[in-house]
Amino acid sequence: MTYTSINPFTNETLKEYDPLTREQTVDAIEQAGEAFDCWRHTSFDERKNLMLQYASKLRERIDEYSRLITLEMGKRISESREEINFCAEIAEFYANGAEKFLADQPMDVDDADAYVQYAPIGVLLGIMPWNFPFYQVTRFAAPNIMAGNTVLVKHASNVPQCAQAIHDLFSDCGAPEGVFTNLFIPKEFIKSVIENDCIQGVSLTGSDKAGAIVAGEAGQKLKRSVLELGGNDPFIVLEDADMKHVIKMAVQGRMTNTGQSCAASKRFIIVQKVADEFLSAFKEEMSRLKLGDPLDPETDVAPLSTEEAAVNLDEMVQKTINAGATVVLGGGRPDREGAFYNPTILTDITRDMPTYDQELFGPVASVYVVKDEKEAIQVANDSSYGLGGSVYTKDIDRARHVAEQVDTGMMFINQPTNSQAELPFGGIKHSGYGRELSHLGILEFVNKKLIHAM
Ligand code: NDP
Repeated sequence: MTYTSINPFTNETLKEYDPLTREQTVDAIEQAGEAFDCWRHTSFDERKNLMLQYASKLRERIDEYSRLITLEMGKRISESREEINFCAEIAEFYANGAEKFLADQPMDVDDADAYVQYAPIGVLLGIMPWNFPFYQVTRFAAPNIMAGNTVLVKHASNVPQCAQAIHDLFSDCGAPEGVFTNLFIPKEFIKSVIENDCIQGVSLTGSDKAGAIVAGEAGQKLKRSVLELGGNDPFIVLEDADMKHVIKMAVQGRMTNTGQSCAASKRFIIVQKVADEFLSAFKEEMSRLKLGDPLDPETDVAPLSTEEAAVNLDEMVQKTINAGATVVLGGGRPDREGAFYNPTILTDITRDMPTYDQELFGPVASVYVVKDEKEAIQVANDSSYGLGGSVYTKDIDRARHVAEQVDTGMMFINQPTNSQAELPFGGIKHSGYGRELSHLGILEFVNKKLIHAM
C-alpha cells in the first residue's frame, strides 16, 4: 500500500509516499508517549503559544495550503481558502479559551472542599477523512493538544500531501517531537495502534462502517472513542418559508464541497403546498451551475475527491433510478476528464429503494414531498443517521418546535447545518457520538477527576 496523491481534476499522480513499517509505527507511538510525559506538565501559556503560531502560519501560508487542498482532493479554491481560515479560527479559539474551559470546577457539597480537575489522559489517535483535510485534523488536534494530550494522526490515504504539510507545520511552530505526529500507516495497522498501552483514546471522522470497526477495537481495550460519521441531513421547507432564500440555502446546503460533507443538506423535505414552486426554482438554480477547474474562481462545481468516489456515487444513483425514482435534473456523469458528477435532483424515492437510507456523498439532492409539518418530521426522523438538519419558515416559534422534534445532534433555522469554533458539532444514531468544537470538544479526552478534602 502507498499513500498516493492524485489530482482528481486531471487524474495526474502528484506524489507517492511509502507507509511506515510496524517497527517505525511503534517507535512513533512511543515517542508520542514520551512527549506526553512532558507536555502534560506544560503551562497553558506554553500550549497557547504553539497554537497561536499554528494559526498565524496557516494565515501566512494560505496560498500554499489552499492550493494543496485543491490539487489533492479537488475542492474549489475559494472553499480551500475558507477552510484554512477556519482552521486558524479554531486554533485561536482553543488557544484563548482552553484555560477557562479546563479550570477546576468547584463542587457544591457541605462540610468539604471538593472540585473537579480536568487532567490530560495521554496519547490519542485521530483517524481522519479527506473531505476537509486541514479542518478535520485541526478540529481534533487543537483542543486535545491544548488539554495537554499528544496526538497521532492517520489521515486518509488520498490526501498525504496535506497530512505531511500539517505535520511539518506543527514542527515549524516549535512543537516538541511527538506532540503532533502524522502516521503514514495502512489501516490494517490501526488495531495494533489502538491496542498499544500508550494510546488512551481514538477519534474517527468518516463512514459509519469504519467507525463501527474502530469503536469495536477501542471498546475491546476499554478505551474511549469519539465518532463523527455520516449524515443524511433533512432540509425541511414549510409552506410559509421565504422561497427565494430557501433556494439559495438549498443550493448552498447541497453543493458546498461538491456535496461531500457529512452535514450537507441531503434530503429536501417539502410540504405539498410549495413543492412545485420549490422543485422548479431549485432545478433552475442547480442547472445554472458550471463544472470546471477547481483552481478557476469562476467554477461552481468541482470534481469529486477521486475517480472511485464518482464511480461509486453514480452506481448508487443508477440503482435508485432503476428502482423507479424520477430524475428532475442530471442523473449521471458528464463526458469529460476528471472525477465530475452532474448536479442532480431525484424525487419519488421510496423506502424500499437502496439509497433511501444511505448517504449520497456528492452533488445529488433527494426531494421528498410531504402532506404537512407532521409528516415532514416523520420523514426527517425515518433515518439511521442523526447528524444535523434545518427547517425553513418565517415563524421562528414554529421552527423551534419542529427543530426540537427532529432527532439529530444539531438543528439550524433558516440556514443549512454549518460549523463554528464556538458551537458543538456532532450527532446521534449512526452519525456517531461525542462532540467536537466548542467547550464540549475539549472535554472529550480529559480525566474529569474529583479531588475531595474534608
Ligand atoms: P472511510 O470511512 O473509509 O475513511 C475515513 C478514514 O477512516 C480514512 O482515514 C480511512 O483510511 C479510515 N478507515 C477506513 N476504514 C478503516 C478501518 N477499517 N480501520 C481503520 N481506519 C479505517 O471513508 P471513505 O473515504 O471511504 O468514504 C466512504 C463514505 O464515508 C463516503 O461516501 C461518505 O458517505 C462517508 N464519509 C463521511 C465523512 C464525514 O465527514 N463524516 C468523511 C469521509 C467519508 P484510508 O483512507 O486509508 O482508507
